[in-house]
Amino acid sequence: MPEGPEIRRAADSVAKVLVGETVNTVRFGLPRLRHNSSRLRGHRVTAIETRGKALLTHFEHGYSIYSHNQLYGVWRVVKGHKLPKSNRSMRLLLQTQTHSAILYSASDICVWPTPELSEHPFLSRIGPDIMDPTLNWKDIAARLAEQKFAGKTLAALYLDQAFLAGNGNYLRSEILHRANLPPSWRPRDLSRGDIGKLARETLVISRRSYESGGITVAPRLEATLKRQGARRGQRRFYVFGREGLPCYQCGTRIERVDLAGRRLYLCHSCQQA
Ligand SMILES: [Zn+2]
Repeated sequence: MPEGPEIRRAADSVAKVLVGETVNTVRFGLPRLRHNSSRLRGHRVTAIETRGKALLTHFEHGYSIYSHNQLYGVWRVVKGHKLPKSNRSMRLLLQTQTHSAILYSASDICVWPTPELSEHPFLSRIGPDIMDPTLNWKDIAARLAEQKFAGKTLAALYLDQAFLAGNGNYLRSEILHRANLPPSWRPRDLSRGDIGKLARETLVISRRSYESGGITVAPRLEATLKRQGARRGQRRFYVFGREGLPCYQCGTRIERVDLAGRRLYLCHSCQQA
């Protein structure tokens, strides 16, 4: 399932062809949305924003398309106006003079006045986006200290979209490992130093994954693993999916546990309670 970095990369490819351009064709696949086409056609797109798994297409005249990818939504961008063959249902088509952006399969789509987006039922519930470039580690540290989050386990918090939108399963294992923290701990059990380290690793890991296209290990370690013959899938993560393999820091075997309903990987020596 895509997490913040993957969603932001998909958004980048849509932004590349739409931002600053006038959309000449707007087609909604779902009949209940079709009346919106004329409201948006002929207007310029100003920005593509991501909030967790939601993507917001903002138009210059104060309207936005909200689309949530759910489990199976996928965007495709093509040059020209000829649509690719696909067995998926087309839910949204936006065409500029030169390109087409198509959203398939997602059904949670609506058109909303931009100034009122904060009242949208999904957007009003979620926290700041993990990929928001203005988010800094002090914001995250302050959030960890908030009453409503400080008493939750890190395992639960790092899947909770109300804490940070775009958080997800592989990021959870990787971030807690790099912060050397046991997943059963709660922010209120942590020292100031641990909070700061966790907040910084949250940004380092998610931004690195975005920039590298899904690799969370540091570039130097990745290069070493590559020289040793590791395939791409074997050199992406510090711990996620590496059950039984040695920890890169200490050699202890990585273990898998199921926490908050999802699998989590950790090194019991580096992440000792
Ligand atoms: Zn270790």
